[in-house]
Amino acid sequence: MVRIKSSQTVFTEDEVTSLTGICREHLRGLARNKHLGTLAGVAEAAAGAEKWLFSHSDLMIVNVLHPRCQH
Ligand SMILES: [Zn+2]
Repeated sequence: MVRIKSSQTVFTEDEVTSLTGICREHLRGLARNKHLGTLAGVAEAAAGAEKWLFSHSDLMIVNVLHPRCQH
């Protein structure tokens, strides 16, 4: 079960990975496939430094769709 502060509305990739236990690779794959989250900073993305932001509901969906990574 994921516990989060109800006042928080936007979550970074690092926060989502630590809250859900899903690794960054799987999280990004899920974000792309399910159209979850927002890719912030086009310039950064072009340079290979992607930065994803997730809403509260994105986080909940990710948590339901993907089990905690075991690798
Ligand atoms: Zn994984």
